Amino acid sequence: MIPLEHALSIVLSETARLPAEEVTLDDSLGRVLAEDVAADRDLPPFDRAAMDGYALRAADVAAAPVALEVVGEVRAGAWPDLVIGPGQAARIMTGAPVPAGADAVQQVERTRPLDEFRVAVEAAVVAGANVAPRGSEVRAGETVLHAGRVIHPAAIAVLASAGRDRVRVARRPVLALLVTGDEIVDVAARPGPGQIRNSNGPAVAAQARLAGAEVRLLGVAPDRQEEIADALRRGLDADVIVVSGGVSAGDYDLAEPALQDLGAEFLFTKVAIKPGAPLVFGRLGRTLVFGLPGNPVSAQATFDLLLRPALLKMQGARVLSRPRVDVELLGAIRNRSGRKSHVPALVRFEGGRLVARPVRSMGSGDLAAHARANAIVVVEADREEAAAGETAEALLLGNFLEDDGAPL
Ligand code: AMP
Ligand code: MG
Repeated sequence: MIPLEHALSIVLSETARLPAEEVTLDDSLGRVLAEDVAADRDLPPFDRAAMDGYALRAADVAAAPVALEVVGEVRAGAWPDLVIGPGQAARIMTGAPVPAGADAVQQVERTRPLDEFRVAVEAAVVAGANVAPRGSEVRAGETVLHAGRVIHPAAIAVLASAGRDRVRVARRPVLALLVTGDEIVDVAARPGPGQIRNSNGPAVAAQARLAGAEVRLLGVAPDRQEEIADALRRGLDADVIVVSGGVSAGDYDLAEPALQDLGAEFLFTKVAIKPGAPLVFGRLGRTLVFGLPGNPVSAQATFDLLLRPALLKMQGARVLSRPRVDVELLGAIRNRSGRKSHVPALVRFEGGRLVARPVRSMGSGDLAAHARANAIVVVEADREEAAAGETAEALLLGNFLEDDGAPL
């Protein structure tokens, strides 16, 4: 058994960067940016009115209320050909360029039209008020997004403003997924006596897709070495092969020998973590191979700890791990395993600090308990118990922000 940190460093050192491809802006959501993106123009591109009102010279309204001569109107999308002189103002709309001569905008609510050519400005403004100066947000040529960022909606806005209707992103890793187990039946099938539905396949596929992978399903194989090997042959051209189940020490745990038949070279077969100690990692040619434990919580947890970082690294992502935070435990956690323990928990910001309540779970088969968690609390191998009130480390899961506020 090797420690998790060691296992992760082995996985990452075997993980090569995938080539980039070009996609449309619409298709870039969730992908990893493969280039630095620079602004092609200043933002804002001109001195921009931030309010509907009057463009004017601040010095003219220092002794407000005062009347100014209205010399024109500037709408958003138009370029002003007028110049604001002393005692003058122009009607202006939000988003319109501030005309030459003006140095501020007074909002319309603080003005009152006197007649067609004059406006009363009822309050003073300082120079620069309600004007976003050209280039004050971003300078032309400045890098606005760095390679390695996962593209989210706000990044899409930035790409759009830089005129990028196409962007270079990492190619999606192709992940071939094989589920094993005589007891496993397809989700749509009716489980017979002693059978259970395949929950790992859909769950791991979903985790892989959220990490940017394209998933190829190799189906469910029974616990027979040749059939497992045959199914795996269909995945040999993938970037990653994942086998669920059949990697522990039982008589019918045949994923490892099947992989060996195909020529896999193993780099580790056990990691000192709970849940999920049996965990196979190796290579088959240039394909990375992971054998995940069949226990549903173990499969999902080991995916998050070792496979997700690998998929992200393949795509050149800069951040590979879940956010780590310090939490105060609301309940004790026992850890008699002698391994680094990962406990599903609900974390919330409460009373000025992050608190964590371990979810009530029957163990590593309890997939319903795992689905109630939004974080994983980590207890080090040498700690037999982490007491209530202690500070512990937690990894925040993707559903962290979906807290319904129910009492912890
Ligand atoms: P294994 O790793 O094959 O020894 O399986 C460990 C436990 O996980 C057993 O209780 C299996 O029934 C269960 N299990 C294995 N594969 C799956 C799966 N695809 N979906 C749900 N449970 C599974
Ligand atoms: Mg099995």
